[in-house]
Amino acid sequence: MKLEDLGEGGFIRKIRERFKAAVVVPIGDDAAVFDIPSGHSLVFCSDLLAENSHFIRNLHPPDSIGYKSVAVNVSDVGAMGGTPLHFLISFAAPGDLDVAWVDSFFDGVAKACADFDISLIGGDSSSSDRIFLDVSMIGTVPSGKAVRRSGAKSGDSIYVTGQLGGSALGLECLKSRDLKNRAVRRHLYPEPRHKVGAALRERVHAMIDISDGLSTDLTHIVEESKVSARIYKDRLPGWPDAASNHILHGGEEYELIAVSSQDLAEVVMNVPLRRIGEIIDSGFENQVFLIDGPQESVLSPLGWQHF
Ligand SMILES: [Mg+2]
Repeated sequence: MKLEDLGEGGFIRKIRERFKAAVVVPIGDDAAVFDIPSGHSLVFCSDLLAENSHFIRNLHPPDSIGYKSVAVNVSDVGAMGGTPLHFLISFAAPGDLDVAWVDSFFDGVAKACADFDISLIGGDSSSSDRIFLDVSMIGTVPSGKAVRRSGAKSGDSIYVTGQLGGSALGLECLKSRDLKNRAVRRHLYPEPRHKVGAALRERVHAMIDISDGLSTDLTHIVEESKVSARIYKDRLPGWPDAASNHILHGGEEYELIAVSSQDLAEVVMNVPLRRIGEIIDSGFENQVFLIDGPQESVLSPLGWQHF
């Protein structure tokens, strides 16, 4: 069956029957209504996935697109030190799209809801000549405890969670149909570190999730904090077989960069945390320096950019 045969009413009914959130007013009214715990601020973010820019219909399984569209927002909430709560999906697609694609997409969304303990509470739909998916997510953080990009100070240590380079390697493997490589799963079903972000929020000065690549996202921290950074190539936790280009610049990792004056534990919420360098005073520019043996060079932000 095609989406145009199902119709907008059928589409909404299908989603409403599947996603039943325990909130004051769930899907099915003009707007959703839910309560938030007292003493908390809301954390609010969105992420747009456009067909052919972020995914290719005959390459990426639809359930992975559903999963990832939610996971990337969970990662952003976590990078603020927050806990994800609820989300909306706006969905635009061609009328001749197979309903099986839509069902599989929402399988991935449902898996993400279960994995991250969050719920879908609404959204919107429209027709379009290619697929556009926008997820808007709300989370909470205790008032005054959100972690920004701008708090890094000279002398602080720079940490990263997990391993880097797996997602970029996985995308290459996916394109060359080497589907047995473990990195493919890493690319398709990212593991956001929101629980680590929430656990660290009282102990860090700055935090960001790696969506555009280590070089680009660490540059965001040094620019916002008006400092520079020095990182050591031999301390970067690389994914097995990832090239240094993947490790330094690969996007869609959804690991965290955390900056702290404290000596952070090596494992937080079962995720390894590695000290990769330090924040230093800036000269004329806010830059990232890469130390590779005896050599020091400026690490330009060569990660993902849309425009
Ligand atoms: Mg982010």
